[in-house]
Amino acid sequence: MRGALGGPRVLLRRLREVMAEPVSAQERLDKIVVLIAANMVAEVCSVYVLRVDGTLELYATEGLKREAVHQTVLRQDEGLVGLVASEANPINLSEAQTHPAFSFRPETGEEIYLSFLGVPILRSGNTLGVLVVQNRARRTYSEEEEEALQTTAMVLAEMIASGELLAMAKPGAEPAIRPRLHLSGIALADGIALGHVVLHEPRVLVKNVIADDVPKEIKRLDEAITTLRSDLDLMLERGEVADGGEHREVLEAYRMFAHDQGWLHRLREAVMTGLTAEAGVERVQSDTRARMLRVTDPYLRERLHDLEDLGNRLMRQLMGQDHAPPREQLPDNAILVARSMGPAALLDYDRRKLRGLILEEGGPTSHVAIVARALGIAAVGEIANVTGLVEAGVPIIVDGVTGDVHVRPPADIESAYGERVKLRAKRQAQYRELRDKPCVTKDGQTITLMINAGLLVDLPHIADTGAAGIGLFRTELQFMIATAMPRISEQLSLYRSVLDAAGDRPVTFRTLDIGGDKVLPYMRQEEEENPALGWRAIRLGLDRPGLMRSQVRALLQAAAGRELKIMFPMIAAVAEFDEAKTLVERELTHLRRHRHKLPDRVEVGAMVEVPSLLFQLDELLARADFLSVGSNDLVQFLYAADRGNRRVADRFDAISAPVLRALKQIIDKAGAAGKPVTLCGELASKPIGALALVALGYRAMSLTPSALGAVKALLLDLDVKKAQALLLPLIEKPIAGASIREQLVAFADAEGLQL
Ligand code: PEP
Ligand code: MG
Repeated sequence: MRGALGGPRVLLRRLREVMAEPVSAQERLDKIVVLIAANMVAEVCSVYVLRVDGTLELYATEGLKREAVHQTVLRQDEGLVGLVASEANPINLSEAQTHPAFSFRPETGEEIYLSFLGVPILRSGNTLGVLVVQNRARRTYSEEEEEALQTTAMVLAEMIASGELLAMAKPGAEPAIRPRLHLSGIALADGIALGHVVLHEPRVLVKNVIADDVPKEIKRLDEAITTLRSDLDLMLERGEVADGGEHREVLEAYRMFAHDQGWLHRLREAVMTGLTAEAGVERVQSDTRARMLRVTDPYLRERLHDLEDLGNRLMRQLMGQDHAPPREQLPDNAILVARSMGPAALLDYDRRKLRGLILEEGGPTSHVAIVARALGIAAVGEIANVTGLVEAGVPIIVDGVTGDVHVRPPADIESAYGERVKLRAKRQAQYRELRDKPCVTKDGQTITLMINAGLLVDLPHIADTGAAGIGLFRTELQFMIATAMPRISEQLSLYRSVLDAAGDRPVTFRTLDIGGDKVLPYMRQEEEENPALGWRAIRLGLDRPGLMRSQVRALLQAAAGRELKIMFPMIAAVAEFDEAKTLVERELTHLRRHRHKLPDRVEVGAMVEVPSLLFQLDELLARADFLSVGSNDLVQFLYAADRGNRRVADRFDAISAPVLRALKQIIDKAGAAGKPVTLCGELASKPIGALALVALGYRAMSLTPSALGAVKALLLDLDVKKAQALLLPLIEKPIAGASIREQLVAFADAEGLQL
């Protein structure tokens, strides 16, 4: 039996000739299957193409009955061919009939063939079809033959992707190369955007698949690898940060892979079969992507991503595209699609043209999601393989409210979304009209509405929303989006800009709240069993006072000649508050001694987000100038339900007696002690939450900027006394019957309040 090794190059050369012939697509396919069968000494060679309806259609065959072409259609879970497609993996069997997935279609006459080798036709990790060879006799196809068939499948992938086969397909049964897709992920940033795809890492499209001169291609590959390695060495030596904001650990991983013999061997093997160097890299990349789709272990996935990134670098090197194209040149209504992205990379894009963001990874607490929300871009995460499913320029809709994504949306979906966008714009315009109106309820209660912020890009929101100030400035965001620890001068400059932007409106700065889910890429942290309960926020601040001291110093200097409000996150015991306050006083003394200009007034407060404080409120109120309730953490800890874990995050309702009783206790005690309280968690950003808070007695809240309009509109129409009369008895009563939320909703309905 003649093996295909040595054969594939001949085969590829012949295939190239066929590809250049001026014949119809069907004739070309027919010739290709004959060539492959002859070259592999197989009795059968068939091409199945994946259709938009998810089935596999027989497009050409040598050896099976000709009548079956375009008649045989398999489901993706049907038979060995279906298995190759759904697993995106080759299947190589000397006795196919004994495989549990084996099934045959009588119209093809394939029951007499014993041996089976099927490989997926892959492009960018996506299955476009299946290429099969079969033999009547028992035969073991060698690894080289499997490799050769995969190489050949690449040529078919290019042919299918070129759209050449579209003309011969029935409507609704076209090859799945430009399908309409409805994908579901998780909502990361509120908003709806209609636009066109821009790939964050543009795919390098290999045009030239078949090599003229294999030794020359091997040489090109070797040279590119050498350059890649020395570039990586240089970057690591210089401590440089790569394009995507990758940090040292990632570069180290790249370097490790760049020397990995297994990877290098696979690349060389692919080129040896007769591909150009770049097509060889693409072949191996396709395998990596297909593997990535199957792997669920997060560590392994991360390594496969690294490997893919490295492959992309190598490909760019070979195609003479050293760098990704510049980010400024965005088309209008750009919807950015990326596997994952750092926050700094997102900020590099032109905000005026960016409408939406879609990520394969990234949860709601990811840093890039935080930045997307600050920028007001609709964003959706956790859409598997989206970078493989779309191409640049494709029309797409991002629904950051529900987490849906529509690729090439049909006209009815597009117009429905168009309507929603108009409606949202109308509502925003109504809220804008309320901007300069004082927030006074129907019965004359003044409510202070402020915004939460943390980045420079948040600052215009003060003016946009007409907020009374910044009730929570999350200082850790500057640290989280940076690639290295921000210097004290950088901190100072940000804090100054914040105070300048706020003018005479107050700003409450929260000292660093890192640890838990807020990880700094450049700061090594020990793995913890329960990070949310671990060494985080003020605990870390007090144990490593250097960091906190320099931050406090920067804050005091930035507020020279003005009023400064500082608060500490995650205080669990009054002693911690005392210690933190002493640190601030020490810094003040230090600056005074060095004749720095000081703030006119410094107020020091505590965040109430750990339930233990509920039982130390008297002591805390005696020491703190003000309190700020972090309802996100407080509710998480009261119910022992991880706020970042989708399975439990919404299991318990914040609008319920236990939480509202706790919140009431805080506001009552603070009122008695004459100390101001703000609530800055997400609870205040929902109209129904704000309604409950005001009824409990809260008069100051800090909100997500985009939520301010809706909350203000509700409060202007609210009769607080009526709401109080309903809610206060409800939370005192034993828990029974309809939920407090339901009763509040009914109240809002009866009062004509828009929730
Ligand atoms: C909170 O916990 O409610 C809060 C405002 O802080 P963060 O969301 O930043 O933890
Ligand atoms: Mg918190």
